[in-house]
Amino acid sequence: MSVLNQKTIKKSLEFKGIGLHSGKEVAMTLFPAPPNAGIIFKRSDLKNNNLIFPSVFNVSSASYCTKLTNESGVSVSTVEHLMAALCGLGIDNLLIDLNSEELPIMDGSAKNFVELIEKVGFKISDQPIRIIKIDKKITYKDNEKFIIFEPNKITLEIDFEIKYRQNSILNQRNKKNIYMDDLKDMFYSRTFCLFEDVEKLKKLGLAQGGSLDNAIVLKGNEILNTEKLRNANEFVNHKILDCLGDIYLAGHRMVGKITSSQGGHNVTNQGLRELLSNNENFSIIELKEKNIPHSFLVRNSLKSSA
Ligand SMILES: [Zn+2]
Repeated sequence: MSVLNQKTIKKSLEFKGIGLHSGKEVAMTLFPAPPNAGIIFKRSDLKNNNLIFPSVFNVSSASYCTKLTNESGVSVSTVEHLMAALCGLGIDNLLIDLNSEELPIMDGSAKNFVELIEKVGFKISDQPIRIIKIDKKITYKDNEKFIIFEPNKITLEIDFEIKYRQNSILNQRNKKNIYMDDLKDMFYSRTFCLFEDVEKLKKLGLAQGGSLDNAIVLKGNEILNTEKLRNANEFVNHKILDCLGDIYLAGHRMVGKITSSQGGHNVTNQGLRELLSNNENFSIIELKEKNIPHSFLVRNSLKSSA
């Protein structure tokens, strides 16, 4: 069986938690899915039109989290951390069943998702992987925020920078080679927010489930959580995690170079819309032994032997 073939999980997996923004309790089950099914969300609390197929074009809101809405108006939100885990682990096909509108936030990172998926293991199909290869450079700018998508021969590289005037601790830049680096730091990095924004978010009806158990809260440069930083670049590593999850909404893993400064869900989504709205900007390739970027071989053989 080729390591380049599409993967799902071996057995179903359950997660329970609360939605970061909704504050609602949610039970989520991941089920193995057949080759070429892709990633599918199912709202089991609703009887009709309850399937949501991730796409960069059905992102209905990208402020503070990524929300997907189908043509019948049914939504799932805060999909980015699980999507990043699936992309980083190379899961092509999966049914995600949940009984609420928002995914569980867990500890604010992708740690729990990754650990349980790795524990249950992977099932490799006989169908080849498809990837999106960036063919043309695309830049999306929103004042000082930007994202650039560029061609890259062998892997997916995300270079991210964050800058904050009041909180110098947040001025970080890091780069991850998604198919070759150890992604543990990125998977384990938690979401963060500024202490002065907590009240504002709650008044907007957001962060209702937010606490020091699922977000790093900063007062100036001081971390209010008992658990201090999990890694020196935790803030920017979380932004790379978010970016990867948002990119996976493109439908397949990607090969390219992505550079972003001070961006976030909205900037990434706007850039992706521009990239994917013209066929000349990208191609979809079926991976066969001879056209494989060698980084895929490294990552996939590591995973299948795990
Ligand atoms: Zn996030």
